[in-house]
This record gives sequence, C-alpha cells and structure tokens, in this order.
Amino acid sequence: MKFARYEVNGRSPKIGLVVDNELIDLSGVAPSMQAVINLSNEGMAMIAQHANRSSRLPLSEVKLLAPLLPRRNVMCLGKNYADHAHEMQKANDEPVELPKYPVVFTKATTAVSGPTDPVPFNPQLSEKMDYEVELALIIGKQGKNIPAEQAMEYVFGYMVLNDVTARDLQRQGKQFFKGKSLDGCCPTGPWIVTRDELPIPHDLEIRCLVNGEEKQASNTRNMIFDIPITIAYLSNGMTLLPGDIIATGTPDGVGAARTPPQFLRPGDVLTSIVEGVGELRNVVTAV
Ligand code: MG
Repeated sequence: MKFARYEVNGRSPKIGLVVDNELIDLSGVAPSMQAVINLSNEGMAMIAQHANRSSRLPLSEVKLLAPLLPRRNVMCLGKNYADHAHEMQKANDEPVELPKYPVVFTKATTAVSGPTDPVPFNPQLSEKMDYEVELALIIGKQGKNIPAEQAMEYVFGYMVLNDVTARDLQRQGKQFFKGKSLDGCCPTGPWIVTRDELPIPHDLEIRCLVNGEEKQASNTRNMIFDIPITIAYLSNGMTLLPGDIIATGTPDGVGAARTPPQFLRPGDVLTSIVEGVGELRNVVTAV
C-alpha cells in the first residue's frame, strides 16, 4: 500500500491511501500517519475494506505533504556508498578509505518538508547548499538489539528523502547537525510505500537531477551497510521506535565533490527519484 499525507485548499492535513493516480481519504480510520504505522494486521485489513467503499480524489487535486512528521530526529547514514565516501574524502583531502562502522548523524525534526515544498535559500546562512538523494525507511515497531536476520520485520515502509546539506555549516564544527538541519532541508515523500510492495529494497535505481540534468545515478545495491545491518547496528543497546526515520545514505555525484563544486542556486529544480518509491520535486527558493 502507499500512504500519503495531504491537504486540499489549505485545510487540515489528512491521511490517504494512494491507488494509481487517485487518493482515498482515510480520515475516518486513521487520524495521523503515526496511527497508520501503529495499526495491527486487523487494522490494515480494515483500511483495505474501507478503501473499497470510499470515494476517490484525483491526486492532481491535492497537495502532498511530508508523509510523516517524526517525533525525534531523522537518523542518517553518512558515507554509505563507497563512491560517495571516496569523492568526499578526495574533496576534503582526507585518506580514501571505507568506513568500518556506520557513520550516523541526525537531522532536526523541524527540517522535514514535503515532496513539493521549496528548499529555502538564504545566502546569509549558507552559500553552499547541496543535494543528497537517499532511500529512507520508516520503523514500524519498537525494538532493541534486533538481529540483522529479523531486522526487515521492523520496517514499516520506505520513502524518498533528500538530505539537503549546507556544506559550509557542516564543516564549521566536528558535528554535522547544524549543517544538516536548516528548515526545509529534508524533503520527503511523496508517500510511504509499505515494505510488502518493495520486497527487495537493495536493487533500486536512485537518481538526483538538478534542472533536469542528472547529477547522481546509482543503485541501492551499492550501500556499504545494508538495511538489516543498519537496523541491527542502530538498535544495539538503543531502542528504535515506530515512526523513526532512517536515511540510508547518498551515492556519489554531490555538488561539493565536483570540480569545480556546484551548489544549489535560487530557481534550481531539485528532482529526487527512487525506483518503485516515487519522486520529489523541490524548487530552491530565496528567502
Ligand atoms: Mg546524506
């Protein structure tokens, strides 16, 4: 199933089920995406029944919003594609090597934005705004010390995420948090595709375009730490909660590693695509 959060004419956000190019309103059964994630199997069956009887709205008549407003920071993997790890190490004059352990940082909840929201550009904050297309997963149930062999059972679903980064702020300190957390710097969506619809998340084309020009193109099979290993690592001694978002890292091709570097400018159209999940389209907008 595909679950979206949406609004019509600026009215309060609703949850809907996406079927082909239409949306089925789930307001009667699911007040929030967190409620959908918390549903039991019986609850999911109820949604399917409800969908059969409900009227449909063309997707073109709604505004899709960030599918899920997380309760705590978005967890992100850095340097999780070898080609990206190497391009960043070269650009930073660091030794070229693969990480031995997952590199984990977070983005503030307030950075999270929707699939068509603008990416704010304020040159007084940053002149080095960069793009990072990623496959994000959403945790479906609470777990701690999850073995890799059971980890996929803890995945509720997937969405596209762009880990938009202010490189100058990222490099000011030893921690990435500030440079990763400016408002509107975490476009997500366009919906959450449930795990059953994407049985093999490690063979998906992943691409990022700026003004229609392909900047990143890879496949999720190139992740260094795959989803089960990432969940096992994160949950080791640290409880994962339903609704946690984990971004699995970006492939090579980011602006900071180009010669010369190419950063986002106002008016740029950023398109982020993951095969089988969907597409985000965000315009960089001066504020
Ligand atoms: Mg990233």
